[in-house]
Amino acid sequence: MKSVFCAQIQTATLGGWWSASLWFGASFLGACLGSFGNVLVYRLPRNMSVVRPRSHCPGCNAAVAWYDNIPLVSWLLLRGMCRSCRTAIPVRYPLLEAGGAACLAAGLLRFGWTVHGLAAGVLLLVLLIIALIDWEHMIIPHTLTVAGTVVGIAASLQGPPGLRASLLGLVCGAGVILAVAYGYKLVRGRMGMGGGDVMMMGMLGTFTGPWGVPAVLFAGALLGTLYTVLGGSRRDDGVAKLPFGTFLAVGGAVIHFYGPEILAWYLSIF
Ligand SMILES: [Zn+2]
Repeated sequence: MKSVFCAQIQTATLGGWWSASLWFGASFLGACLGSFGNVLVYRLPRNMSVVRPRSHCPGCNAAVAWYDNIPLVSWLLLRGMCRSCRTAIPVRYPLLEAGGAACLAAGLLRFGWTVHGLAAGVLLLVLLIIALIDWEHMIIPHTLTVAGTVVGIAASLQGPPGLRASLLGLVCGAGVILAVAYGYKLVRGRMGMGGGDVMMMGMLGTFTGPWGVPAVLFAGALLGTLYTVLGGSRRDDGVAKLPFGTFLAVGGAVIHFYGPEILAWYLSIF
């Protein structure tokens, strides 16, 4: 049984208006997901429910009406202020909404109008949200990695890397981090990585397949090392902390989108 989404939608063969509407629709969907991302970025690390209570202004506690909650548009119309009390709405809210639109568009641009392209866009946004949360709180919420893993496995039914490679990627990704974490514990007597890293690498494995796992790890470790060398891990409280999830997110995005090209370039050097 072939679903509608199975066939690639050739936007080029559609009329200009149809094509523009599709891109507008995808960008708007991405902006809505980015808007929900704002809720996740604030509430997940604080262990709050992501559905209740409804969004409200931190200044006057007024509930945000639906017409004041339209991605990007509302923030512009309200000129960045609450309708009732004029408390400033931080610019990071519309920025993440624009980011969501950009993520979905990027996935579809890179891989075409396919399930694979849509899933790549969703992965990019999930990685962006994880990067923001881990950077600030040193937490990788399971809610995000489990949701991403489900998307990765589901998308593998309709495109690369295929279901078998996707499941193998999950096992390899999670397994490698588990092995490193326990090895580190044996040597240093404490855990260097947490369950969040294990789940995150498993999620990335479902998208890249097992062969992408070492590449993502290498890219993440390279970025983390650069960050440490440049003195970024020294924090005010004197405790060196490395938001490894943030670097894994960047590495995972680069490898999923351009892994084969990077590998071909690297091999061409020799
Ligand atoms: Zn207010």
